[in-house]
Amino acid sequence: MSITFGRKSGKDTGKLESKSEHKIGGLDNISSIFKGHPNESEAKTKDPPIEELITSEPDLPKPSTSKSVQLIQEIQKLDDKTIKPFVDYNEGRMFYPLLSKIGEVQDNVGYLDGLVADGILEKQVYEKLIVCPIHPDTFSSSVRLYCPKCHSMSVEKLNLFEHKACGFITESTNFDFADPENSICPSCKKTIKNFDKEIRIPAMWYQCNDCSEKFDNAVIKLHCRKHEHDFDTNSGQFVTTFSYKLKNSDISVNSDTTQIKDELLKLLQGFNFNAKLNVSIKGKSGNVHEIPIYGKSKETNQTILIFIKNQSNGIDQSDMNSILVPKLDIDPTNTLLVTVSGINDGVESLGEHYGINLISESDFSQIISRVEEYVKKSYAKKGGKK
Ligand SMILES: [Zn+2]
Ligand SMILES: [Zn+2]
Ligand SMILES: [Zn+2]
Repeated sequence: MSITFGRKSGKDTGKLESKSEHKIGGLDNISSIFKGHPNESEAKTKDPPIEELITSEPDLPKPSTSKSVQLIQEIQKLDDKTIKPFVDYNEGRMFYPLLSKIGEVQDNVGYLDGLVADGILEKQVYEKLIVCPIHPDTFSSSVRLYCPKCHSMSVEKLNLFEHKACGFITESTNFDFADPENSICPSCKKTIKNFDKEIRIPAMWYQCNDCSEKFDNAVIKLHCRKHEHDFDTNSGQFVTTFSYKLKNSDISVNSDTTQIKDELLKLLQGFNFNAKLNVSIKGKSGNVHEIPIYGKSKETNQTILIFIKNQSNGIDQSDMNSILVPKLDIDPTNTLLVTVSGINDGVESLGEHYGINLISESDFSQIISRVEEYVKKSYAKKGGKK
């Protein structure tokens, strides 16, 4: 069974629609530092709603209708398993285009932060933007260079060029590199074929076109593009943007569970399963997950994942979520979470929703008999694929 959707996802945030292209004159805009520079392509947001895609896949398990499950599946399609922000510099907005695929508002950062708290996503610093101290909501600022003497913006960058072969040094303007095939040294008249190898740049400075002043360091200002004023680079404020990475499953190996694992292994083998402990299983996304117990029926090829977690505070939602990621990626026939701990409120229904079966008993032997019952019921009768 497959839970991949019949459509490729946008590979990155750069494909998103942008109302206007940046028109940057002269020097590079800060925004060009940003990856995923927008292009004019529209219509990416007009994808069919996710519900349609899901219903087109007849054997999709019920829990996939959950938004979080959909989101995890969408992230698993991405190469770096990371939701990245997209910054609209003209509008001064930041949002997460991927959220639109699950019918969520694109700037719902609270939703993503909730998934961080739930242990599904990991929040990472994506970028630091320098923004105007007076208009911090405006992300768009550009760098401007001024003449330190007359404050003109008409500043030229000049270099010295040295022809390594003959040692001739002159201002770059005296070398004509308009035709790179036929550049000639003004001194020795030899053809310069490879600029990088044959020419050295011993010095660089600026010259003002208005007052002719030559200087080493131009005055650098940042320009608030929306409100059209300059501000000092040091007065700029930082805005941090975050990306959200899908957490790798980190089911910690707990020595206390060795005995129960061995028992469960024997139990599965008794039901004619190929079963293994602490095994690395590659999911559909290519990610590898550490699974405490993995079993595959020799008769029906049905599979089972068994997770063991013991928490003094009881099993909570984040324990459940950490199982959900490998469960969705490996897509076994059944998934079990066994524990000697208590189960916190709401976790049982969450497990039901996700298709993860919970077995909680205060001692190991009871757990074993419950698992035995479960396996008997789920695998012995059925036969054939679900
Ligand atoms: Zn401003
Ligand atoms: Zn000047
Ligand atoms: Zn020369």
